[in-house]
Amino acid sequence: MKSILNYIDGHFVPGQREFPDINPADGSVIAQVSEADQSLVDDAVGAARKALRGGWARVSVRDRAACLHRVADAIESRFDCFVSAEVADTGKPVALASTLDVPRAAANFRAFADLIKSAGIESFQTETPDGKCAMNYAVRKPLGVVGVIVPWNLPLLLLTWKVAPALACGNTVVVKPSEETPASATLLAEVMKAAGVPDGVYNVVHGFGPDSAGEFLAQHPDVNAVTFTGESQTGAAIMKAVAPTLKAVSFELGGKNAAIVFADCDFEETVNGVAESVFLNTGQVCLCAERVYVERPLFERLVAALKHKAENLKLGSPLEPTTDLGPLISRGHREKVISYYQLARDEGANLITGGGVPRFDNALDQGFYIQPTIYAGLPETARSVKEEIFGPVCHVAPFDAEDEAIAMANDTKYGLAASIWTSNLKRGHRVAQQMNAGITWVNCWFLRDLRTPFGGVGLSGIGREGGMHSLNFYSELNNVCIRL
Ligand code: NAD
Repeated sequence: MKSILNYIDGHFVPGQREFPDINPADGSVIAQVSEADQSLVDDAVGAARKALRGGWARVSVRDRAACLHRVADAIESRFDCFVSAEVADTGKPVALASTLDVPRAAANFRAFADLIKSAGIESFQTETPDGKCAMNYAVRKPLGVVGVIVPWNLPLLLLTWKVAPALACGNTVVVKPSEETPASATLLAEVMKAAGVPDGVYNVVHGFGPDSAGEFLAQHPDVNAVTFTGESQTGAAIMKAVAPTLKAVSFELGGKNAAIVFADCDFEETVNGVAESVFLNTGQVCLCAERVYVERPLFERLVAALKHKAENLKLGSPLEPTTDLGPLISRGHREKVISYYQLARDEGANLITGGGVPRFDNALDQGFYIQPTIYAGLPETARSVKEEIFGPVCHVAPFDAEDEAIAMANDTKYGLAASIWTSNLKRGHRVAQQMNAGITWVNCWFLRDLRTPFGGVGLSGIGREGGMHSLNFYSELNNVCIRL
């Protein structure tokens, strides 16, 4: 049986205990994963601190950027290994891992390698009211050791989205991948070594959250900042854990995102876009839409088309190139999603399609598959319309007026993403600017430019990453004032 080890100071290190890495497509055990206890987390943080002092922070920006480009090259040269690792751990279709997850991982390193080379710093020519003159300029310095805690839905993409800018800014990192998806972060360690990233700059500790590697890392007094992607409640627990040592935090959290469809939309483009926004990655993308609001004249037609789309998605082996939807990540997560399907029925929903577990009559029946599901007819106050489900499911509701749609979309404690579907340019801008969300798409979804601000409001997060926002989070800007 394959072992997945921790990676500390350039070495693969076993822990005292192991836990299984499960393939969600058929429930089989892929590997045994070494759990890091407190002392291994201490070692990893110590190694990261040593590497910081040892000079990663002082490596020239040009050399650091070149090193990150070599990491991107090495990811691309082991493209198939990363795709296999990601597919086996998550159950996502091979077509998705090879067009989204792995290319984006390489792109993350390239984007931040290039950006750090061109990142300017502020300077001010100063004249005080009493006539003194000075020159002020800021110096960009690393934060120090950054704890990176990430989820299972886009494991490599979300990990590298944080590791790339952190390393670009001269920090060292200790990463804690999800216990569900430990493989690609470990493979990345091999790539870091091959690309010449000095030992101790990138460390990996495996384990769970509370009373395990995640909590040990968040609490650690020698960790200077924690960057986290995951559930909002976990964000709250991490905030508590970092409070005594007042670490900087960047939080990318959950969502209950809305799509608003106006009757003047391009119908085909909208049906395709909304279906993708509900079902991609079996609905396990933080940006997925779980609430779809449709202008009344188009409601019946759009619901029928969405139903047709859902019923024609091909569920199957992630290894089949034509598979559209793989399983959910775990048995536990499927139980949670099924409990929401049941809750929606109990709350009085009309089931448009789905609502159950598919049968394959082969090994996939041991996997954690679930039917893509559409509900209608619930009041906006229903729990299943308010709470994040994180599965291939949406509730569709009609609206009559633009203001009503905006109010319904914004009636949530979350605020991560929204999409608006209309051919009216003015309306697109007008509605987008009123969305209470970190990102709003018009006539598209999940179209990302890595330089733009990314994050959420309310329960969906704290801070922004992306482009200069990432560089500013992962650096300390120290001001120098020179009397002239
Ligand atoms: P999760 O919060 O359960 O776990 C995320 C990570 O945190 C894992 O590595 C886990 O081991 C660790 N963790 C859990 N409890 C911890 C604790 N007390 N202290 C330290 N670490 C702890 O999330 P998940 O189930 O892996 O991922 C799904 C969630 O992530 C959804 O809510 C989704 O919306 C969110 N998400 C958000 C974004 C975004 O960019 N906003 C992106 C992807 C996923």
